[in-house]
Amino acid sequence: MWNDKNYHTLDFELKKNFGEKTIKLSIDGGFTCPNRDGTIGNKGCIFCSERGSGDFTSDRTKSISQQILEQKQIMSKKWKSNTYIAYFQNYTNTYDSVENLRKKFYESLNCEHICGLAIATRPDCINEEIADLLSELNTKTFLWVELGLQTINEKTANLIRRGYKLNQFNNCIELLKKKNIRTVVHLIVGLPGESKEQMIDTATYVSKLNVWGVKIHMLHILKNTDLAEYYNNNPFKILSQEEYIEIVCDILEVLKENIVIHRLTGDGKKSDLIEPLWTLNKLKVLSDIDKELKTRESYQGKNSPL
Ligand code: SF4
Repeated sequence: MWNDKNYHTLDFELKKNFGEKTIKLSIDGGFTCPNRDGTIGNKGCIFCSERGSGDFTSDRTKSISQQILEQKQIMSKKWKSNTYIAYFQNYTNTYDSVENLRKKFYESLNCEHICGLAIATRPDCINEEIADLLSELNTKTFLWVELGLQTINEKTANLIRRGYKLNQFNNCIELLKKKNIRTVVHLIVGLPGESKEQMIDTATYVSKLNVWGVKIHMLHILKNTDLAEYYNNNPFKILSQEEYIEIVCDILEVLKENIVIHRLTGDGKKSDLIEPLWTLNKLKVLSDIDKELKTRESYQGKNSPL
């Protein structure tokens, strides 16, 4: 259905839109996060790394244009393409004045061969004014906005110090939908104390919202994070690769066919990873997901809710 895959990949979707391989360039916009600067909290989400969950971006002290140039040089060694998406990844990329946001986003759009814009943020950092700016950008480029929901379970959300409630997420999704802005929701599999059923409930909930895309991460325990300390003091069950694959396939089955799958694994820095070490072999994880779907004779959306 989606070339050789049994799920709706981002690669497939972007090729359909742009006619060739599209490459994402990870940018650090130099923002901070209300969950770290004291506005909501000082310590951030329990799993957040030192660089605000964006460990592969360029130097934040450099201009957006310079970062784009450097990222293009790095990526061109791996892929040949002239179609790029500027991905504002680190921290909260709508946590600034509209004026500053406008300046940075337009700087990226004015760089050569930038065909789209991806903005990672929090639902409590998009108000009407910012949504209007996003709506304006949406008329000029291929835009999507990423929101880190991780789970719908409030108990887990408190444990991981997400710092906003589910109804704030719902309101933000509604606001972005009203403006016809594509939304991508991040989910984490393997959060402490969550059962398989709870993880699938989160995916089912998101599927019903008709979001544009979903990013699935295996929980990574990284050095120098509060999660590492929590794990040390309260060792919780880490999913095996087989368990993860089974859960991811169950999640894909409940996600509607039109939802674009942006990621199916975690992406932490190798040198910082404490657990689970099997995630380092990303290709094996992805190929085992393919195999499991084929063995089940299954595909994305097979068990999707109405
Ligand atoms: S919202 Fe993002 S940047 Fe902020 S603390 Fe959580 S993971 Fe880190």
